[in-house]
Amino acid sequence: MGVPISQMWTVASYVIGQRLKGRKRYPLVLMLEPLFRCNLACAGCGKIQYPAHILKMDLTPEQCFHAVEECGAPMVSIPGGEPLLHPQIKEIVEGLVARKKYIYLCTNALLLEKKIDLFKPSKYLTFSVHLDGQEEHHDFSVCREGTFKTAMAGIKEALKRGFRVTTNTTLFDGADPVSVREFFDEMMALGVEGMMLSPGYSYEKAPDQQHFLPRAKTKKLFSTILSNRSKKWRFNQSPLFLEFLMGRRDYACTPWGMPTYNIYGWQKPCYLLQDGYVDTFQELLATTDWKNYGTESGNAKCANCMVHSGYEASAVNDTFGSLAGFFRTVRATLFGGAYSNSEALEALKEPAVPLHKKLVAVTVSAKNAQTHSEHVGV
Ligand code: SF4
Repeated sequence: MGVPISQMWTVASYVIGQRLKGRKRYPLVLMLEPLFRCNLACAGCGKIQYPAHILKMDLTPEQCFHAVEECGAPMVSIPGGEPLLHPQIKEIVEGLVARKKYIYLCTNALLLEKKIDLFKPSKYLTFSVHLDGQEEHHDFSVCREGTFKTAMAGIKEALKRGFRVTTNTTLFDGADPVSVREFFDEMMALGVEGMMLSPGYSYEKAPDQQHFLPRAKTKKLFSTILSNRSKKWRFNQSPLFLEFLMGRRDYACTPWGMPTYNIYGWQKPCYLLQDGYVDTFQELLATTDWKNYGTESGNAKCANCMVHSGYEASAVNDTFGSLAGFFRTVRATLFGGAYSNSEALEALKEPAVPLHKKLVAVTVSAKNAQTHSEHVGV
């Protein structure tokens, strides 16, 4: 099953409608963080380093619905923390489905099998499962053995029951392109609807500061992974965003395209940075000094960012902004995977960095995981 036509139509008509209304800034996906606590403590995560009393807080379903209605975006991504730990996640999902929002519930899937009875299959609900690669790589990335196997069991159960399932992969420096490509083959054979990719953002608070990708390396890595791609691979993402990651086109950041709401309120300016909070979405749009953000702004915090939460909305706007943009998307959809260059092909032959050389990150984050679990009791 691919992305439902109804979802594509909803997004296309929404974007075209916003442009016809002359709106300069409009949201595409609401990043709704109903909690920060998690049952993992990944080395590259910048979302769980809060004090215990904050980690124990939840948004209420009513707060979630109010944010969704205020923002008006057609899609809602529910990251966290781990949303399946939220005591009212059933009510939140049901309320958003009733509002006909396309939901991506981002989960590490450790609790998916146990909690799946809470949910009903719907074209509006997709489980977006965090898997950072093949078993050894994923378990390394999330700093706990056995997580890949548990997540796979959850995915299989969700697929068996007719849920929409995608994977969600964050790549860091040292990722092995050959293994990532094999992982894509495995996920397609498993039957997921599509895959999502992003480079990791260099969170200041993340325990492992050594493996974030600078821009040039990001382009090389994604170009290597996505060149000469298998015709079976399906991505639940804008094809132009994938070309952006490969360094084949450039975009300015659109931080308002995926605004973030959490227990503090509306987060300025984007999902990744925390330059203050405001009470309403309109205030976010009106009071954020947008020219200070994006790689082109010269802001050091944005210098190496190529993350989907800043740039995927830019790619979608390109698609629907002009006839030329639409044809660029068609061409990228049909022929983007055929792209190759000799550098990318050579890179596929390079030996990957052995996992034992990354042990520093595991040691740091294992300590972090223990501290996080003690704080929040998960
Ligand atoms: S470049 Fe990245 S960090 Fe900077 S505003 Fe855009 S999304 Fe946020």
